[in-house]
Amino acid sequence: MEDSSKSKSGGMNRREFLNSGLRFTIAIGVGAVAVRLLSRSQGRQMVWQLDPAKCIQCGRCATNCVKTPSAVKCTHVYSMCGYCDLCGGYFRPETKDLTTAAENQLCPTSAIKRKYIEDPFFQYDIDEALCIGCAKCVKGCGSFGNGSLQLQIRQDLCDNCNECAIARDCPAGAFSRVPSDSPYIFSGYDSKKKG
Ligand code: SF4
Ligand code: SF4
Ligand code: SF4
Repeated sequence: MEDSSKSKSGGMNRREFLNSGLRFTIAIGVGAVAVRLLSRSQGRQMVWQLDPAKCIQCGRCATNCVKTPSAVKCTHVYSMCGYCDLCGGYFRPETKDLTTAAENQLCPTSAIKRKYIEDPFFQYDIDEALCIGCAKCVKGCGSFGNGSLQLQIRQDLCDNCNECAIARDCPAGAFSRVPSDSPYIFSGYDSKKKG
């Protein structure tokens, strides 16, 4: 007697169809495991990072991180910096005397260190232990300078939460998961050559 589950076009019967479906499902499962194992063997776990090109300096990187202080810090891409005497990331806009007096500084924690190099150049270094990731300097540098001050999640400080509490509320959608072997993103500069 003819198998009633076989199609009129002479295709596979129900059992063959189910078996092939099962094989397909198992193949996907094996493939997914293989990709995970390969990723692990290559050290390519995924971590959170923010894209400075999207950041609008809203201030939530300082307040929303589960870590205190935030795992987000200001990073200085020196290769983009103009080594300006009048640094828009260091000085408040109304500053008249370019001195390191606390009242002249944009940074609320004095985390940016200004160092004389040679006339007329100054170098600006971030003391990460003091930085709270508030982005005030990033905004100033982006408005009046070259944009060399940029926020980044420091991977050595981040808990790599399942759901990043800053990413959830970032109004710019600047956060994404990136491979752990290439965990930093710098705007306007090749991160591999950072320095
Ligand atoms: S939460 Fe988003 S927009 Fe706000 S400072 Fe952080 S990265 Fe920038
Ligand atoms: S202004 Fe804010 S983001 Fe910039 S160095 Fe100071 S604490 Fe860090
Ligand atoms: S993943 Fe967690 S620890 Fe890392 S920046 Fe986001 S909230 Fe902070």
